[in-house]
Amino acid sequence: GTKPATPHIAMLATPGMGHLIPMAELAKLLVTKHGFTATLMTFASTASKTQQAFLSSLPSSISALSLPAVSLSDLPPDSEIETLMSVEAVRLIPDITSALKELKTRHTVVGFVADLFGADTFDAAHDAGLRPYLFFPTNLLTLSLLLHLPEIDVNLTCDFKELEEPVKLPGCVPLPGTEILAPLQDQSKECYKWMVHHGKKYCEAEAILVNSFDEIEPDAAKILRQHEPGRPPVYPIGPLIQTGSTVDKAGGSECLDWLDKQPANSVLYVSFGSGGTLTKEQMDELAYGLESSGQRFLWVVRSPSNAGDGSSNYYDAESKKDPFTFLPEGFRERTKERGMVVSSWVPQIKVLAHETTGGYVCHCGWNSTLETVVHGVPIIAWPLFAEQKQNAVMLSEGAGIALRLERRGDGVVEREEIERKVRALMEGEEGKRVRRKVAELKETAAEWMKEGGAACQSLSEVVAMWKKGGGCCNGC
Ligand code: UDP
Repeated sequence: GTKPATPHIAMLATPGMGHLIPMAELAKLLVTKHGFTATLMTFASTASKTQQAFLSSLPSSISALSLPAVSLSDLPPDSEIETLMSVEAVRLIPDITSALKELKTRHTVVGFVADLFGADTFDAAHDAGLRPYLFFPTNLLTLSLLLHLPEIDVNLTCDFKELEEPVKLPGCVPLPGTEILAPLQDQSKECYKWMVHHGKKYCEAEAILVNSFDEIEPDAAKILRQHEPGRPPVYPIGPLIQTGSTVDKAGGSECLDWLDKQPANSVLYVSFGSGGTLTKEQMDELAYGLESSGQRFLWVVRSPSNAGDGSSNYYDAESKKDPFTFLPEGFRERTKERGMVVSSWVPQIKVLAHETTGGYVCHCGWNSTLETVVHGVPIIAWPLFAEQKQNAVMLSEGAGIALRLERRGDGVVEREEIERKVRALMEGEEGKRVRRKVAELKETAAEWMKEGGAACQSLSEVVAMWKKGGGCCNGC
C-alpha cells in the first residue's frame, strides 16, 4: 500500500518522568519544526497516573504506545532500578521489533531512538531494518563516564568509593569516587555490570543526542564534539525542557497563588524531583533547618522512605500516604506566615519561572537542573540517587551555579548546615556569586535555544541525516 512520505521517528523512553519528559520534548520539536510524526513507546511498568496524563497531553502527531507488561518477578526483590529497567528493555526486544515492523507498514520510519537504559533495544531496530540512535537525557559528564566505563572497568581494582584520587574524565570536573553515579558504587551489583554493558552498547548508535549545551560544560563539549573513530558523533541539542505542561494538577495553582503574594526573589523552592524521598530523620533536619533559616519556602513534601538512597518512589510519582503527617509536630503552624508545603506534584516550571522564586534546594536531577538554568534560579545541591551526586559536583565546582551541602559521615545533612547554606544562598555573598553565574547561563541558554541557535543547528544536522535515509538500513 501507499504510506505517507512524512518522516516518522520511533522512540522508546525507559521508566521515569525524567526520561519521558525530555524525549517527548524532542518529539515535539521534530513534529513542530521538522514536519515529522512520531511514536513514543513506554514500558507498562510505569503506567502511573502522572505518566498517563502526560502522554495524553501530547500533540496528536505523537502517538503513545504502551508496550506489553513484562514479568520481572524472577529477579531478586532487591534489584536496583537500573537493573529492572535494563532487564525489562531486553525482554521487550521481540515486542519492540514487531511494533517497529508494524509501524513501517504505515509510516516512512526514518530511525529508532532509545534512551540511556534502552540501548539493548538497538537490536530490535536492527531486526526491523532501522538504524538506532541514542537519546541521552542527562549531561556530557555522565555520557563521558559511561563511554569510558568499559575501559575504566578493566583497570578498576576496588570500588570507586575507595579510590584515593578523583576520577578524571577528559574535559570534566574531577569526580571523587564517592560522588560517582550511584549504580557504579558497588562492582558486585548487577546494576554496575549493566552500566558497563550499556557503555559498550552506546557505540552501536549512529549518533548520540544529548540534552545538554556547551556553555554549562564547555570543555567536555569541546572534546565530545570532536570526531573520534569508534565513538558515535555527539550532538548536544539542549536545554530541552518541558513545554505546555498539563500534568499540573489541583494544588498546583494554589502554590502559584501563594507565590504571587511573596516579595520578589524571596522564596526558596525545595523539591527532590519526581521520585526522590528522604528518610524521616532527614525530613526532620530539613524542616528544622528551613524553620531556623527564617527564609520563605515552598516545599514539595513526600512521605519518607527508609530506602537510604532516596529512590523508593521512582516508579510512581504519587505519594502513597499523607506526607504532612510526617512533619515535625507544630511545624506547619509555626511556619505558616512564610512557608508553604504541598504534597506530591507541583507545576515546577511555573514555580521556577515565578519572579518570587529566588533559590532552589534541588536534587540535581538533570531536567530540574536545566529548568532552573533556563529560569536563572541558583541552586543548593542536595543530590540523592542516579547521577545526581556527580551533577552536584559539576554544578558547584564546574558551572559555579550551586552551593553544595556537606553531609555527615552517615550521609545525613544536619539542620545547622541546611540553615547555613539557605542563608548563604538567599542573603550571603556566596549566594550573589552563584546568582550572577546562573543569570549568565540563563542568557546563553536562551541564545542557544532560539530559532537558528546552536541547539537547533545540532538537531537540524541529525534531521538532515534522517531525511536522507540515514535511519533506515534497507531502503524503506
Ligand atoms: N516535576 C514537576 N513537579 C514536581 C516534581 C517534578 O513538574 O513536583 C518535573 C520537573 O519539572 C522535571 C521532572 O519532573 O521536569 C523531574 O526530572 P529530573 O530529571 O529533575 O529528576 P527525576 O525526577 O528524574 O529524579
